[in-house]
Amino acid sequence: MNWRFDVAVQTPAHSALGDVLSYASPQPVAPGTLVRVPLGRREVLGVVWSVQPSSPDEDVAGLTALKPVAGALDALAPLSESWRDLVAFAARYYQRSLGEIALAALPPQLRELSAVQLARRLKRQAAPGTAATEAPRGGPPPSAEQAQALARFEAEAGPFLLFGSTGSGKTEVYLQAVAALLEREPGAQALVMVPEINLTPQLEARFKDRFGTAAVVSLHSGMTNPQRLASWLAAHGGAARIVLGTRMAVFASLPSLRLIVVDEEHDPSYKQQEGARYSARDLAVWRGRREGAKVLLGSATPSLESWHQSRPAEGKDAGGRYLRLEMPTRIGTAALPAVRLVDMGRQPPRTVLSAALLEAIGQRVARGEQSMIFLNRRGYAPVLACGDCDWKSECPHCSAYRVFHKIDRTLRCHHCGFTERVPRACPACGNPDIAPVGRGTERLEEHLGELFADVQRPDGSPVRIARIDADSTRRQGALESQLAAVHAGEVDVLVGTQMIAKGHDFRRITLVAAANPDGALFSSDFRAPERLFSLLMQSAGRAGRDAAYLSAQGSTAEMWIQTHHPQHALFEALRRHDYPAFARRELQERAAAGMPPFAFQALLRADARTQEAAQAFLNAASAAAQGLEGADLVTRYPAVPHAIQRVANVERAQLLLESASRAALQRLLAAWQPVLHGLRREPEGKGVIRWLVDVDPHSI
Ligand code: ADP
Ligand code: ZN
Ligand code: ZN
Repeated sequence: MNWRFDVAVQTPAHSALGDVLSYASPQPVAPGTLVRVPLGRREVLGVVWSVQPSSPDEDVAGLTALKPVAGALDALAPLSESWRDLVAFAARYYQRSLGEIALAALPPQLRELSAVQLARRLKRQAAPGTAATEAPRGGPPPSAEQAQALARFEAEAGPFLLFGSTGSGKTEVYLQAVAALLEREPGAQALVMVPEINLTPQLEARFKDRFGTAAVVSLHSGMTNPQRLASWLAAHGGAARIVLGTRMAVFASLPSLRLIVVDEEHDPSYKQQEGARYSARDLAVWRGRREGAKVLLGSATPSLESWHQSRPAEGKDAGGRYLRLEMPTRIGTAALPAVRLVDMGRQPPRTVLSAALLEAIGQRVARGEQSMIFLNRRGYAPVLACGDCDWKSECPHCSAYRVFHKIDRTLRCHHCGFTERVPRACPACGNPDIAPVGRGTERLEEHLGELFADVQRPDGSPVRIARIDADSTRRQGALESQLAAVHAGEVDVLVGTQMIAKGHDFRRITLVAAANPDGALFSSDFRAPERLFSLLMQSAGRAGRDAAYLSAQGSTAEMWIQTHHPQHALFEALRRHDYPAFARRELQERAAAGMPPFAFQALLRADARTQEAAQAFLNAASAAAQGLEGADLVTRYPAVPHAIQRVANVERAQLLLESASRAALQRLLAAWQPVLHGLRREPEGKGVIRWLVDVDPHSI
């Protein structure tokens, strides 16, 4: 008897090979087993998707033509049916191949280990159950709001949206929800997701402190391959009770998954921006339903999708599918910071930081408190320009300027990485007087140093200014040590990009300032206001987190915003910390314009040598969609250049699809896929380097 295996392997992108490849084996294995199979001249890892006994005539005609399976990693329990369903759903929904999603979801090191090596690894791994022996430590008694949220969480099925102010104790709710689960069901598993790697250490410490070191493992791309494998095996084998991770963790194999937490659910980093462009938050909700695990999304500024989805029933509207839990109050007596808007139109020309703001920061330095200023632009200046001619520091390979970095006197393109030494004189006219235009974090840091040269700390020592951004944290471990310095009070004024705005539980920061947030107010991207609002709320949440510290200092928490549009409704809502008001207004606009969450979108993007070639492909694709299933319910817009049209000498264009029906959009995308593959080989596909579909795109 011979067996036919259909195996998901990572086939080259856009190859004509199907989703699964067939192989022959003399013995059956369970679906979900990992196997090694030949592919071309290589031997690759694959996941067995289905197993059938071969029919007698196939034995002769078919199976003999099939290559044999090279070996099975059968020391490892097969991946469950629900895991395979998740992978299959993600592949279908995001228009990728099964093998790509399945293999990307596995730790890279599995690809290298032989069956024998893996068996040895597994023996070393802790046996299931041993981790649960440590009794969880109790947390603080929950506040009234926490208790109410937890009670509803226990009583209802969800999915839940925990809408809680920064510092209202959302993390504590996650901890207690996990504790209650493990008490009821000691073998259960919980998945807790955070948007960014740099937020994992603090959260990991809190979970390990509560549940013991052995019960908690992390999964994120900042780990080494052996670490990732160890965590993955602990999750897959059931030894880990709690898996903490970034978006990739949504695909972790968790045989006893009962609870999924998505912290800061609004965060854009839950959406993968390359390859398979999945939303880990949306997949978490799908996975929760499939596996009967409760899903808890948390945020102080939920995504408008989740906010809309959790609206209560009203009149004829039956309400959303999610259940909203609210925690408006900060823990302790700490009030949310007072928001102060500085009208930059009334400041002297070229003011960078207003006199009032400088005064406020100076006072805090003198009292030994910390302040934080953020500016969403790294480097010294975004452009270098000649005063005599019209030369500017354009990137020769992109439709963007190269950023001036003073530290190493380079011009760097933040899109393609092209870097050169700053020229001594204008490359166009020879004028030696070329000057930085605009301001990045590096320049702001320098500027503050000059302005505060005479300001002293309580002990008479000079002020200490630090900067945290992608440049300052390039080195392994740099971010950790810089954050530790802030926590230890070694920094008085911290300058940085949005990196410092998120999540960190700084205890001594009493003032936060946004130096220049106006850019996003009038962006062509319809999601820009939503992102700005949440970023500013998040930043405000960094100020005055410790009520006891504030009152001991006799200080108050403040959030300063420098803007040319102090009357803007967004700032008005922010001043009142009124996310619901912001969301109501924004949702009205979205509804009127027929945009998400009232419509569903997908982008077809094409990269080509010329803009014409990219657009020709897209427009031909659009024409070919005519008459396909679902097409009558989907609006197809004309192809347009991407916001940054050229990167690394590649021209980029995109085409938007929009529909009030998610199902119709999905049907069209599925029917379109083979058409797109075919088109690539037609004259219209000439010059196209690659194309991709982005479902539920984040920026347009
Ligand atoms: P969030 O995640 O909403 O920002 P956290 O859970 O981090 O809030 O809570 C903010 C602070 O309040 C933390 O220092 C936390 O330890 C503390 N805290 C949370 N819940 C309680 C509680 N019930 N009693 C006392 N302190 C609490
Ligand atoms: Zn010049
Ligand atoms: Zn470039």
